[in-house]
Amino acid sequence: MIREKAIRYSQELLIADGHIDLPYRLFKENLLYEKNIDLDYETQGNFDIPKAEKGGLNCPFMAIYIPANKSEKEAFNFANSLIDLVKNVTNSNEKFDRALSPNDVINNFKNDKISLPMGMENGSALGNNIENLNYFFKRGIRYITLTHSKNNRICDSSYDKLKRRGGLSNFGKTLIKKMNDIGMMIDVSHVSDDSFFDIIKISKKPVIASHSSPRHFTPNFERNLNDEMIKLIAVNNGVILVNFGSSFVNKKSNKLFNKINQLVAKWREEKSSKISDEEEDNYRNLLINKYDPFADIEDVLDTIDYIIDLIGEEYVGLGSDFDGLGNSLPNQLKDTSTYVNLIEGLLRRKHSKKTIEKICYKNFFRVWEANLQNHQT
Ligand SMILES: [Zn+2]
Repeated sequence: MIREKAIRYSQELLIADGHIDLPYRLFKENLLYEKNIDLDYETQGNFDIPKAEKGGLNCPFMAIYIPANKSEKEAFNFANSLIDLVKNVTNSNEKFDRALSPNDVINNFKNDKISLPMGMENGSALGNNIENLNYFFKRGIRYITLTHSKNNRICDSSYDKLKRRGGLSNFGKTLIKKMNDIGMMIDVSHVSDDSFFDIIKISKKPVIASHSSPRHFTPNFERNLNDEMIKLIAVNNGVILVNFGSSFVNKKSNKLFNKINQLVAKWREEKSSKISDEEEDNYRNLLINKYDPFADIEDVLDTIDYIIDLIGEEYVGLGSDFDGLGNSLPNQLKDTSTYVNLIEGLLRRKHSKKTIEKICYKNFFRVWEANLQNHQT
């Protein structure tokens, strides 16, 4: 019975996801300059039209992900190429449509279309020119993850051991105000703790964490949010879109994936000859089979319940990181067809339809709408 209800809800309710790495996946599949990109068949990836339809996904935010090792000039060009790629994907499939606001998404939903809004992962593409913010807003970008795995001109990164600035730079501070003015959402995923506290102090608009989970489940993993940060996001009226990744939601998985990454790095170093991506994947999968590092869907449900217990049900949503996590997704949450399982889990945990609706999109859309209010472009 609960299963049937979950299937029904997944189709009836709008489901939005704050972070899906389809653009970079397609880049890796050498489709960057391909005009016709058909996704209406079962691909090897986490996201395609059949999987999204099965899962009831209506609004996957496309991550315009820019690797941290690119120069600012390269980053600018690469961001533009990935935005063009999303345009090509949208134009190639009848099922997809563009979306620049919650209203667009709701209209597309009524017309049985999947919206493909965009967020930029790594503000390095802005370079030193604050005017690029307007430029990318006009190109359809609706949030910017300020940094990725390295410190940049804007702020420090959680993954960068050397915290260069101890938070936001002066450029970063000006940028936050400008983002508020034009209606560009600020994404605090990936930033260092100091950067987070600077941002939350300055931002007058609600922020998002597009793909982060509570640090409570992964002690010392700065990429996730600690309780103090989660509480401040509630005060800011923002939203935490939880990451599904095994190493984000479970302490043991976090440790095992760290170990696997270290073993892969060591193996790479020992092999003097050049190793292909395929060879590396094979070796990684060998270790994954050996250690069984996967978390479970229950762990992801625990992160949602933890946030609700801490700050209430108005500030949590979904930011799976599908297509960006490789072979590290939890059991029963392996791709975009599995939102049904998540809804089933929420029902089993006695959450009402109203609460599930908030988690699926309403909380996120409240923040998006608040950012677009009174904006000046
Ligand atoms: Zn990311």
